[in-house]
Amino acid sequence: MNKMTRFSIWYFLLFVLVILVVQNYFEVRRFHTISYSEFRQLVDVKGIQEITISGDIISGRLTKDGVEFLTQDGKNPELTVLSRQEGMAEPPFTVVRLEDPDLLARLDSQGITYTARLDKTWLTSLLSWLLPMMLLIGVWIYFIRKIGAGAGGGLMSIGKSKAKFYVEDETKVTFKDVAGVEEAIEELQEIIEFLQNPGKFQALGGKIPKGVLLVGPPGTGKTLLGRAVAGEAGVPFLSLTGSDFVEMFVGVGAARVRDLFAQAEEKAPCIIFIDELDAIGKARSLSPITGGHEERENTLNQLLSEMDGFDTRKGVIIMSATNRPEILDPALIRPGRFDRQILVDRPGLRGREEILRVHVRGVKLAEDVDLRKIAARTPGMVGADLANIVNEAALLAARKNKSAAAMADFEEAIDRVMAGLEKRNRVMNPREKEIVAYHETGHALVAESLPTADPVHRVSIIPRGIGALGYTLQLPTEDRYLMTKSELEDRLAVLLGGRAAEELIFQEASTGAQNDLFRATDIARSMVREYGMSPTLGPIAFERDRRPLFLETMMPPSAKDYSEATAQEIDREVSSLVIQAYNRAQEILAGKRDVLDRVAKLLLDQEILEGDDLRRVLNEK
Ligand code: ADP
Ligand code: MG
Ligand code: ZN
Repeated sequence: MNKMTRFSIWYFLLFVLVILVVQNYFEVRRFHTISYSEFRQLVDVKGIQEITISGDIISGRLTKDGVEFLTQDGKNPELTVLSRQEGMAEPPFTVVRLEDPDLLARLDSQGITYTARLDKTWLTSLLSWLLPMMLLIGVWIYFIRKIGAGAGGGLMSIGKSKAKFYVEDETKVTFKDVAGVEEAIEELQEIIEFLQNPGKFQALGGKIPKGVLLVGPPGTGKTLLGRAVAGEAGVPFLSLTGSDFVEMFVGVGAARVRDLFAQAEEKAPCIIFIDELDAIGKARSLSPITGGHEERENTLNQLLSEMDGFDTRKGVIIMSATNRPEILDPALIRPGRFDRQILVDRPGLRGREEILRVHVRGVKLAEDVDLRKIAARTPGMVGADLANIVNEAALLAARKNKSAAAMADFEEAIDRVMAGLEKRNRVMNPREKEIVAYHETGHALVAESLPTADPVHRVSIIPRGIGALGYTLQLPTEDRYLMTKSELEDRLAVLLGGRAAEELIFQEASTGAQNDLFRATDIARSMVREYGMSPTLGPIAFERDRRPLFLETMMPPSAKDYSEATAQEIDREVSSLVIQAYNRAQEILAGKRDVLDRVAKLLLDQEILEGDDLRRVLNEK
């Protein structure tokens, strides 16, 4: 019990006490208590009217004579006062009864009538005790309940999940409030449809993903999307944050997970949304030496087993969001768990404009405000930053007592927010941006020129998207289990296309290709050492199976089981594969110099280029 309740009980007791005192005071005022000797004298002088005897108390009314008798010589001054009050000329009195055998005879002789009344029954006296007690207990229970509800459960309810329920009309967020993430919305739409009409999908034998993981940098609207799904689907929405599971009590996290899924099963169809999954989903410790996070591991294991035991046909979908997918336990991302990942990436120019449009809905804008210009000035910013800019601009306008936010206010707001972000994010200067644009275009053009390479899905030069500065996303058209030598060579050429474009346009390399080179070298090395694809070395494997991951840190590198001369030959073969691929990429790009320029300019302008748009530019001659 906390301080608050105890206080309330004291208040209650004080209240009762005040009532008692007041009541007592009035009784004293209204009933005059006399002594038994006075009573006997009063009987003799006929100073009382009819009396009632009830238990040990005799009560009745005085006569005027009686009052006079009692107040003579200035005795009983309070009775004098009382008798002067309105209707109190013959005030009532009480007296405690004494053993007095001849009382009745004396009353008879004076002609005073008397009645006896039964003493309080045991029931009334019991009630007079019980009622206040029950009242007290009632008040106490009320407060306990209230505290329980407010603080999310006292000691008794540890382990009960703190799931909050957002139902349709509670969450007013809809997809209209989330802009610039059409792709994610499209995928989520499918899930909403399933929840609203599970029968339709099952009839066709369709399989709905069990878990959906929203992945993206902070502030891009993942939590917002989660809430919007609830608003759109109109099904119960059990939402928790990963850290809700992390408790100081052993076993509580696991119990919460169990409870959450039990609740979800009752409410199906429904959505479970676990925000910031990384708080529980961190990879279980690889090294047995560090260990120590058993509690979190228990929680994670419970989550994994609940997800496995779940049947999507019941209509429960588990959604989750994280901005650190790389630290998630691999078991979580395995098929059958969070097998569908939806990328919520930084918005491009058009996306930023749309997000701004969402946020200026509640703001009075001056004529000169151009959202497109604002979007153009804020590359790399996410939804949260843009919401911040709009808010900041509105505040600035209000401070200047303007009736509407003008472009100047937005410019100032951008500068303020930028200054805060510059420390956190890279902000590219125009020259860097140009290099990145050509680099990414290089990848994309090589990929589109090679028949076996996967088609380009999207090219982006928004800083800190998936990669460091920009990225070219290729999506395979089919699942692959085997790759031929020429396909691997094509892949090498695509990876080196970025560097090749830089060399071609700027006659100079930059550090931007670091990751590409690393991956290309890795592929080339595997081709030679593992797949036996080098013509000079022949079909010989120079590497055993990789050691199990969790032992990697603990074991010394194994000794080479081939000669020094072979090692040199391997190195030569690896580098010749890479260099050949690089030359091919350069050839391709040199032949398409004009297209390269055109696409790079377009990319600089739009920041994001979808695969179809890219192919349209390639096809127009
Ligand atoms: P995350 O969970 O990805 O870190 P949030 O969903 O918490 O980001 O976003 C924070 C705020 O930023 C939101 O409440 C919203 O006001 C704004 N915001 C972020 N992304 C968008 C978006 N795509 N469209 C509209 N507003 C957005
Ligand atoms: Mg969030
Ligand atoms: Zn690259």
